Amino acid sequence: MRKLDTKTIVVASHNAGKIQEIRDLIGPLGFAAKSAADLNFIEPDETGTTFEENATIKALASANASGLPALSDDSGLMIDALGGDPGVYTANWAETADGTRDFAMAMRKVETALEKAGAIALESRTARFVSVLCLAWPDGHTELFRGEVEGTVVWPPRGSQGFGYDPVFQPKGYETTFGEMSAEQKHGWKPGDEQALSHRARAFKIFVETCLEA
Ligand code: IMP
Repeated sequence: MRKLDTKTIVVASHNAGKIQEIRDLIGPLGFAAKSAADLNFIEPDETGTTFEENATIKALASANASGLPALSDDSGLMIDALGGDPGVYTANWAETADGTRDFAMAMRKVETALEKAGAIALESRTARFVSVLCLAWPDGHTELFRGEVEGTVVWPPRGSQGFGYDPVFQPKGYETTFGEMSAEQKHGWKPGDEQALSHRARAFKIFVETCLEA
C-alpha cells in the first residue's frame, strides 16, 4: 500500500454533489483539492463494467492530466429486486435526450421498475449504495477503497438535501432518507471516528486508514 505524501490532490470528478462530499470529507485533513471540473479536464468515458474499473479510469485520467495524485469516486445504487440495477449504470438512468441529467425522472424510473417487479412492500425494496474510491498517482500506481451502506428504496422521495438518489434511499436503522439528512449526518464520520454511515464516507475512512495514517 502506498502512502500519500502530498497535501495537494485533484478530485477526479465532474459531479458537483460528489465533489462537495469529497471536499467535506477531505477538508478537515488539511488538503487543498481542485476538481477535474475546476481544471476543465475532459470527462473520460466510463467504459468499465465494475465500479472499480470506472473509478480507476477516472482517477488515472486526472492524475495524468494534472501530474498530481487524484482521487475519484465511482458509485451507484444496487437494488435487490432489480437484480442489482441500476448499479454501475446509476448515472445513465438519469440521462435525458438533451444530454443533461434529471434525477426526479431517474427516481421515477426506479419506482416504475420496482412496481413492475412487484416490489411494493418495504421488505422487498432492499438496496445498497456502493462507492469505490480510487487514488491514482501520475506514475500509474492505484489504490482502491470500497464502501457500502444497506437500506431501503422508499416512495415518494423525501427531503431536498444531498444529491442524486438521496431522497429515495433510507439507510437501515434510520427513519430518514439521505435527502432528509445534513451532510454531517449522511457522512456520519469525521477524522478519528470509528464508524461512518454513507457508502462514500465508509470508503473514505478506509482510504484515510490505508494511505494517510502511519
Ligand atoms: P458515477 O459514479 O459518476 O457513474 O455516478 C454515480 C451515480 O450514482 C450518480 O448518478 C449519483 O447520483 C448516484 N449516487 C452515487 N452516490 C450517491 C449518493 O451518495 N447519493 C445519491 N446518489 C448517489
